[in-house]
Amino acid sequence: MAIEHSDEETKTALQVACDTEVSGCVFLMRTEEEDKDRLVEITRDHVRERHGKEYTRDEIEAEHVTEVEV
Ligand SMILES: [Zn+2]
Repeated sequence: MAIEHSDEETKTALQVACDTEVSGCVFLMRTEEEDKDRLVEITRDHVRERHGKEYTRDEIEAEHVTEVEV
C-alpha cells in the first residue's frame, strides 16, 4: 500500500530587499503572505530612517515586494 503525500502545494512568502543604490545596506526581510501589511510598514520605516526617502505603501508593494517560494 502506498502512502500518499499531499504536500504538493507551493508555499510562497513575501520578501523585500533594500537593494537601492545606497551601498552597504543589507536590509532584507521575509514574511508570510498574510503579514504583508507589517512587511510594508517596516520597510517604509527603514527607508525613511536610513535613507531619508518617503515611499507610499503602494510604491513599496508594487516595486519592492517580491514573491518567493519557500
Ligand atoms: Zn536600506
